[in-house]
Amino acid sequence: MKLLNQNQLQSIAFNKLILVLFFYCAINALYGQHDIEKYIPHEESPLVTHPQIEIRTIVHVIKRSHDVADNLTEDSLSYITQQYDWINSFYRDLRKPTLATSDGVEHHIPSARLEFKVVDILFHVDANDWDRMSTEEDTRHSMNFVSYNESTSELVVEGKWKSSLQRAEDSLKISFKDGSHEIVRFSSVKVDGQQTVFKLISNRSFEKEATIITAFKENNRNCATDLWDKYATDKNALHVFYTGSSKSGIAFGCGPQPYFLNVTNIIKGGDWAGAQLTAHELGHTVGLSHTDRPQFDDLPKADKFGFIDCNQSATSNNIMGYNICRNYLSPKQVGYVHSLYSKRKDRILLTTANEYIANDPIEIWDDAIWDKAMVVKRDIVIRRGQTLKIQEQLHMAAGATIYLEAKAQLIVDGAEVLNFFGTNWNGVKVCSSYERSNKLPCKEKNQGQIILRNNGNIKDILQL
Ligand SMILES: [Zn+2]
Repeated sequence: MKLLNQNQLQSIAFNKLILVLFFYCAINALYGQHDIEKYIPHEESPLVTHPQIEIRTIVHVIKRSHDVADNLTEDSLSYITQQYDWINSFYRDLRKPTLATSDGVEHHIPSARLEFKVVDILFHVDANDWDRMSTEEDTRHSMNFVSYNESTSELVVEGKWKSSLQRAEDSLKISFKDGSHEIVRFSSVKVDGQQTVFKLISNRSFEKEATIITAFKENNRNCATDLWDKYATDKNALHVFYTGSSKSGIAFGCGPQPYFLNVTNIIKGGDWAGAQLTAHELGHTVGLSHTDRPQFDDLPKADKFGFIDCNQSATSNNIMGYNICRNYLSPKQVGYVHSLYSKRKDRILLTTANEYIANDPIEIWDDAIWDKAMVVKRDIVIRRGQTLKIQEQLHMAAGATIYLEAKAQLIVDGAEVLNFFGTNWNGVKVCSSYERSNKLPCKEKNQGQIILRNNGNIKDILQL
């Protein structure tokens, strides 16, 4: 509302419009989707105003030892390249939705305009950092099996063990007479006479005869950020770690972190499946939630999870669902990601936003209003007599310049033009030709104008 000026407020007609707008804004704010629409890269949206987001991605492979990697190795470069080719193709070529939304509309854009650009692949050797899921067995606890009640999930052992259990111990290793064992988790433990009773989390039957039970704690470090602290020397990137585990099974950690993703035991999954799963986890890192409950109103009301075929009735093909297609994102899912990486400094710093592209300027041939946050890596040339009005934050890459030709106008209205990387951009050149940068200043009456309104500001510049 504060962006409306006094003249507009004086108009009765405008007042009515404001009321309508206010109501519209309030409704949209309720869903947190007020300005996502502006950021959606529709098929016809120009690349100037809806550019591709490139997230600088640094891949780390942690090997168990020099000789035994138990992981990807230096010979896996083509595997890693293939993974990111697939992942980027899922985001580049969005398919149509398989599951209908409640409004019956097929919400579809052809591309997310989002790329995970692998800029470096690094290898490290560290057995401790490699092991993201270990179990620490407490061998002092060697408990004799008494009974197991399937209906109550209660496992009874001889002796009073409750007080000697370590606080973090939450699992039991059940050894069987045939030499095999099984690991189960328990939710509570109590002493009953001369015996101890463990309540197991999942109801299960033991067909084989159990003997000795030991307690241990599961040490799951898939989400711990120690790897990022230690190995992410370049903080202006998303770091994806490939680690291992002394336990079996593929595991992913910490998608919601914008800087960090860990994938454990990628070599134990399928190649294509690994790319599908990683694309989903990367979806979390860029701000997207699961689709079992819709994050945005252009998603189906419910999406059944369970790695089942995509079909019209219950399961979507959304990258953020659990399905076996994973080739769709809704326009608002994509628009939301674009809004984050256009507005927020912490997100913009992870992208190629400061990589100046020379000799291919954005040219303003007709009056234009930029009413969404923008990340610009090129020069901007406002041609003779034209006006560019900036109404939301504009990031200019280091090395970029705004050229104002004769009688051109740059209006910065309630917004800031700035650089987030602390490297400064080249500022605005008034009455200077882009094609002939040494041209003499034109007559004052013809000079281009910079107009700052409503605390509009131009900063982080080398010269003005
Ligand atoms: Zn997920």
